[in-house]
Amino acid sequence: MPDAILEVTDLVKHYPLTQGIVFKKQVGAVKAVDGVSFSLGQGETLGIVGESGCGKSTVARLLVSLERPTAGSITYRGEDVTRLSPKALRAVRRNIQMVFQDPYTSLNPRMTVGDIIGEPYEIHPEVAPKGDRRRRVQELLDVVGLNPEYVNRYPHQFSGGQRQRIGIARGLALRPEIIVADEPVSALDVSVQAQVVNLLEKLQDEFGLAYVFIAHDLSIVRHISDRVGVMYLGRIVETGTDAQIYDHPTHPYTQALLSAVPVPDPGARLRRERIILSGDVPSPADPPSGCRFRTRCWKAQERCATEVPPLHVPPEFRLPVTPASHPSACHFAAEKRVVPPAPPSDPK
Ligand code: ADP
Ligand code: MG
Repeated sequence: MPDAILEVTDLVKHYPLTQGIVFKKQVGAVKAVDGVSFSLGQGETLGIVGESGCGKSTVARLLVSLERPTAGSITYRGEDVTRLSPKALRAVRRNIQMVFQDPYTSLNPRMTVGDIIGEPYEIHPEVAPKGDRRRRVQELLDVVGLNPEYVNRYPHQFSGGQRQRIGIARGLALRPEIIVADEPVSALDVSVQAQVVNLLEKLQDEFGLAYVFIAHDLSIVRHISDRVGVMYLGRIVETGTDAQIYDHPTHPYTQALLSAVPVPDPGARLRRERIILSGDVPSPADPPSGCRFRTRCWKAQERCATEVPPLHVPPEFRLPVTPASHPSACHFAAEKRVVPPAPPSDPK
């Protein structure tokens, strides 16, 4: 396991909830991210998974400094990014780039592909002299599997998969060390999702990139991740290596997410019980007390309403990962898996 290049510690992002137009009295806060910690090694892929509304995109925006956290730190190569001067932050931002979820809305329709991919050079002109940019952009097109002659075309002339390749090329323009990919294939046809994931893997090998790869679906993350963090209502509830999370999930939320993943092998399908999660994710403005998952959990007991189960991260987990470390924020994580009661035959 390589050294950590990024350390995220107790990251918090609360959005104030206000009432009134003139005085904007604060009446509460949306706790979008509420104490998230993880590390990322050089060339490593960390998958972050959770249902919609769990705070994944907020974590992504914080990582690339599009937003400032309410509390906590993001340390890149020893420097706390959240405390840097704007000038120093600029240099760091070059190294941590984002690929956005929806290539239909994240590419400016009035700009040519060349201008879109070359836009980062406007912000960081020191990376590429003006006369050199077109050649660089064409090379980037080639790297992501598009014809370099497409440089003067517009986004609408491309398919969804091709557009996401353009988004990836833009993310690569400054030769970053880390790419934060926020559900990079969710908006694409299933048939092209694997192609884009394969491209990301190829680029990782070629350029030694580290990825934070966000998805709401465990099956996509499995393909690409070395380690996985499962997020629920602003917190990470379980982390582990790919094998720990998929073969021995200990948090009921992870178990439920996994049970929804289609299994190609019919034998394995029989061995795995289907867990139906009832209800939606509660509001992050008013999360349940104690364990936030308890309102949807079949294992919940009284204790879960009063005691927050800590995500105990043993020091040895931080890096390198040892097989023994597999933190899970459930009071009953150590117990043998309990089969949930069968869902009612008619869920309505
Ligand atoms: P995910 O990407 O996992 O779907 P998000 O990070 O987009 O989750 O959102 C987490 C929660 O924070 C949601 O309840 C969302 O409505 C809220 N949220 C996100 N951005 C803002 C914002 N700028 N202002 C207020 N609430 C926000
Ligand atoms: Mg999102």
